[in-house]
Amino acid sequence: PSALREITLDIPRVLWSEIGGQGMIKQQLKEAVEWPLQHPEAFVRMGIRPPKGILLYGPPGCSKTLTAKALATEGGMNFIAIKGPELFSKWVGESEKAIQSIFSKARAAAPSVVFFDEIDAVASSRQGSSSGVGDRVLSQLLNELDGIEPLKKVIIVAATNRPDLIDSALMRPGRIDRILYVGPPDCTAREEILRIHTRKMPLAEDVNIKELANLTDRFSGAELAAYCREAALCAIQEDYNTKSVARRHFNSALGMITPQIDDQMLD
Ligand code: ATP
Repeated sequence: PSALREITLDIPRVLWSEIGGQGMIKQQLKEAVEWPLQHPEAFVRMGIRPPKGILLYGPPGCSKTLTAKALATEGGMNFIAIKGPELFSKWVGESEKAIQSIFSKARAAAPSVVFFDEIDAVASSRQGSSSGVGDRVLSQLLNELDGIEPLKKVIIVAATNRPDLIDSALMRPGRIDRILYVGPPDCTAREEILRIHTRKMPLAEDVNIKELANLTDRFSGAELAAYCREAALCAIQEDYNTKSVARRHFNSALGMITPQIDDQMLD
């Protein structure tokens, strides 16, 4: 079927060490996903089942996608990424079939992570659409989730900026029943993120990453990445032959980024 061909498998290359901060999230995901993969017999023996699905929620640009990719990379799992709205736009009239295809592909590729970004587009449709398409797609998703056998090495990671919109049916026990908040970086995490994104940059002696972390309150990870890039561009703009990115370049770049996270998005 046409839908099947368009669902692509990917082996991401994101290491946990490339994500600054988020220590708790990393630890919880290891427990929830890596342990059952590596020691399924221990779970059987203890009479507990590992989660089938995990919801990551939090403001944009704070590493939800990165986290899902790292989970796949570090667990040696295949990765299938789907954006919620795509289910309606890319596969018009075939959204339910697309869901089926996604899951059958995931089972065939196990161990695998299915990453559903912007899941609210699928899972809030019960209140929204009048056509009933959304309802059917959500029902299909719930069916597929119910059909996954625990310990069969398919894990669903869903992400949203709007957890308030998610239909509670999706989050019943046995479905997507782990919910993790992926928040914006604090000062220490910002320092780590800035180090990650300047790792390949030649920095002048006068650049103090700790200080930059202090100056970037409210920046998301994505904004910190953009900030580093802008600083390097400032250096190039000043002099094509430049050998390093200096403090003055970071100073100029600071004004170019306006943090977008507002209080409403915080948990
Ligand atoms: P959205 O809700 O907009 O999809 P997201 O939470 O999924 O956002 P990501 O796509 O993971 O965010 O992050 C975007 C980019 O920002 C990453 O590719 C990375 O360059 C940078 N970034 C975000 N968070 C971090 C972090 N904690 N450490 C290092 N880089 C980060």
